[in-house]
Amino acid sequence: MHEMSLTQGIIDLCLEHAGTRRVNSVEVEIGLLSSAVPEAIEFCFEACSKGTLLEGAMLAIIRPPGKGHCQECLQETPLNELYGACQRCGSNRITITGGEELRVRAIEVED
Ligand SMILES: [Zn+2]
Repeated sequence: MHEMSLTQGIIDLCLEHAGTRRVNSVEVEIGLLSSAVPEAIEFCFEACSKGTLLEGAMLAIIRPPGKGHCQECLQETPLNELYGACQRCGSNRITITGGEELRVRAIEVED
């Protein structure tokens, strides 16, 4: 499962950051255009964090919307799907500039 290795990466990063402290909460950004399924990440997070300093930590998932830069009208356009068209001129020549994120935004550790 794709999400399992993604989640393991998130957990490894948190543990590295936390050192010997317990992690209270983790904030993760998963763009709306990303192929990762948030529910699956939540599930894997719970399973993979068992027995680590992350066990019981709150996982907050933020979903930045998709957006792109249109090569035709040179404007920014919101994107609802990965291969969506420009909402201003209808062109498909879009460079995606947002919504594909998958990163840890914040880690809160115990004092
Ligand atoms: Zn356009």
